[in-house]
Amino acid sequence: MASGREQEEDKTGSASSASSANTGVAVDVLVVGSGAGGMSAAITAAFKGLSVLVVEKDARIGGSTARSGGWLWVPANHLARRAGVEDDVDGARSYLRALAGPSYDVARVDAFLRDAPEMLAFMERESCVRFVFGAGYPDYEAALPGAAAQGRSIFTEPYDGRELREELRNLAMPMRESTFLGIAFNTGPELRHFFNATRSLTSALFVARRLLRQLVDVVVHGRGTRLVSGNALAARLLRSAIDRGVQIWRSAPAVELMVDDGRVAGAVVEHNGQQVRVIARRGVVLATGGFSHDRERTAAQFPHLRDGASHASLVPPGNSGDGIRLAQRAGGEFDDSLSSPAAWAPVSVLRRGDGTTGVMFHLIDRGKPGVIAVSPQGVRFVNESDSYHRFVLAMQRDCRRAGEVYAYLIADHQALRKYGLGAVRPAPMPIGSFLRSGYLRRAQTLGELARQLDVDPQALEATVESFNVAAARGEDPQFGKGSSPYNRLLGDPEMRPNPCLRPLGPGPYYAIRLVPGDLGTFAGLRTDARSRVLSSATGAPVEGLYAVGNDAASIAGGAYPGAGAMLAPAMTFGYRCGLDLALHEAEVREGRRGHAQAL
Ligand SMILES: Cc1cc2nc3c(=O)[nH]c(=O)nc-3n(C[C@H](O)[C@H](O)[C@H](O)COP(=O)(O)OP(=O)(O)OC[C@H]3O[C@@H](n4cnc5c(N)ncnc54)[C@H](O)[C@@H]3O)c2cc1C
Repeated sequence: MASGREQEEDKTGSASSASSANTGVAVDVLVVGSGAGGMSAAITAAFKGLSVLVVEKDARIGGSTARSGGWLWVPANHLARRAGVEDDVDGARSYLRALAGPSYDVARVDAFLRDAPEMLAFMERESCVRFVFGAGYPDYEAALPGAAAQGRSIFTEPYDGRELREELRNLAMPMRESTFLGIAFNTGPELRHFFNATRSLTSALFVARRLLRQLVDVVVHGRGTRLVSGNALAARLLRSAIDRGVQIWRSAPAVELMVDDGRVAGAVVEHNGQQVRVIARRGVVLATGGFSHDRERTAAQFPHLRDGASHASLVPPGNSGDGIRLAQRAGGEFDDSLSSPAAWAPVSVLRRGDGTTGVMFHLIDRGKPGVIAVSPQGVRFVNESDSYHRFVLAMQRDCRRAGEVYAYLIADHQALRKYGLGAVRPAPMPIGSFLRSGYLRRAQTLGELARQLDVDPQALEATVESFNVAAARGEDPQFGKGSSPYNRLLGDPEMRPNPCLRPLGPGPYYAIRLVPGDLGTFAGLRTDARSRVLSSATGAPVEGLYAVGNDAASIAGGAYPGAGAMLAPAMTFGYRCGLDLALHEAEVREGRRGHAQAL
C-alpha cells in the first residue's frame, strides 16, 4: 500500500502573514477538518503518494459525518446495478437541474455525476470504506423530472470499531439522542427489531444480543464498538487514512492561511500549545464543515434567525465557519445565492437528566399514522411525511407567532406508544421523565392539550375533525400525506390503505414543540469542478486553495435531492481534489516546493 511521504521539519524563516508562529513543518497537502470531505481528499492524495496532514479542531475525529445517517446519494452507482436496478445519469441531471433552478452549475454537476460512481469504486478498491444498496429508498421530490423510485441512495456498511484499535477513543461519538441505552442502530431491519421487541421473539432476541454486546463493549472499550451509520463511515475513513500514512493532529485548529504572492502556501495551526506553520507544497484543502455555528453568518443567512426566531443545529459546535472565513481573507468568494442557505431539519430541544441540552432530529415520526403537525395557530400547514428540508421551509412560511417560528407534533396515545415521538421511545419505555421536564405535553382532550400549548382549542379541534374524516378513507386532500414513495417509506407498512394515515383516535393526546434546525449548510465557497476556491475579484481559482464538503456551496442549489445528498458530494469532490493535488508532479516538485520552503 502506498504511504504518504514523511513530513519534513521546516525551521526556515517566518511568513510575514504568520509572524507569531514559531515552529514549522512541510507537507504536500494540508487538509483542514476530518469529516467525509477532508478525509476523502486525504485518502486520495495519500494514495497518489503525497504526504498529507489532516488537522482537526476538535479532540475527536469525524465532525458531523460521525453523527450522520451515513447515507450517500450517488446516481448510477454500481451497487444498485449489482442489485438489478438501472439508473440513468441523464435523468439524474434533469432532476438536479429542476432542483437547482437558477443556481444550476453545469460543470460541477457534470463532474459530480461523472466522479461519484468512480469515487465509490475507488473507495471500495483502495480503502476499507464500504456501502450497501438502499433497496426501495426513493428520491425525495418524486414529482420532478428524473426523480428515481430507488437506486441512488446507499448507506455505510456497519463497522467493527475494534479495527481502529487505540484510535477508537479518538473517534467522535454518535448523537446521544439517536442512540438507545448507548446503542446506535442502523436504519432498516435493525430499527424494526427495536420497534418489534415486545411483539416478536426474533426481535426480542436480537435486541437482547445487542444489549449484551453493548454492555461488554462499554466495560472493555469504554464505548460501543458495533458502529453504524455515519459513525461507521467516519471510522472507516479514519482507518483508511491511517493505513495510507496520513498524519492526523487532533485539537489542532487552523487559524490563518499563509498567502504568498496570491498563492496559498500553507496555514498556521495551533497544536500542543504552539502556533505551527504548516507549509503545504501542493495546496490546502478546507473541509471545516460549513457555518452552522457561525453566529454572525447564520444571523445574516438563516431567514428565521434574521427575523429573531430560534434555531437549534444538529451539527457539532466546532463547525463555526472557519474555512469560509479563512478563504474569504485569502480572496475566496462566498456564494449565498442558493434558494436555502442550509439543509433544514425539524428538531425538538430537550433537557437531559444530567442538565445538558439535547437536540432531537424528527426524521421518521412525522410520517407515521396517528401523527399530525400543526402551526402555533392550531392548523396543519404541511405534508408531514415530506422531506425534513421541505417541512422546515413550510414552518418558515406558515408557523410564525410572536417573533418565533415553531410547530407542534401531535399524536394520539396509540401512535405515541407504538412508534414513539421525538426522543420519547415506544412502549414499554417509560415516558414519565419527558412529561415531568415538559418536553412531552399530555392531555385527555384536544381542547385541554391546546390550552396547555397556548393554541386556540377550537382551531385544533376543527383541524383534527376535518383531518379525521378524510384519513378514515386513507386520504389527505389538503396536503397529500402518504402520496409519494418517500412519504410511504416513512409510514407504517401495516397500515392500509395509506401507510401514513389514520384518524387520530381517543385521548390521551400528546404534543412536542418543533423548531427549525439544520443538518449542515448549503451556502458556501464558490468552487470549480476541481474543488478549487474561486476568487471574488477575478472568478479565477485562488492558487493552492481547495474547499470540499459544506465549506463549498452545494451543487443542488439549496434543495435536498434525496438521502445522502450532502455526504456524496463531500466525498466526491474530496476525491476529485485529492486527484487534482497529485497533478503536475514535475511542475510542483521543481517550482512550488522550493518556493514554499523559502517562506
Ligand atoms: C444528524 C445528522 C444526520 C445526517 N445524515 C446525513 C446522511 O445520512 N447523508 C448525508 O448526505 N448527509 C447527512 N448529514 C449531513 C452531513 O453529515 C454533513 O453535510 C457532512 O458530514 C459534512 O461533511 P464535511 O466533511 O463538510 O464536515 P464535517 O463532517 O462536519 O467535518 C468538519 C470538521 O472540521 C473541523 N473543523 C472546523 N473548523 C476547523 C478548523 N479551524 N481547523 C481544523 N478543523 C476544523 C470540525 O471540528 C469537524 O470535525 C447529516 C447531518 C446530521 C447532523
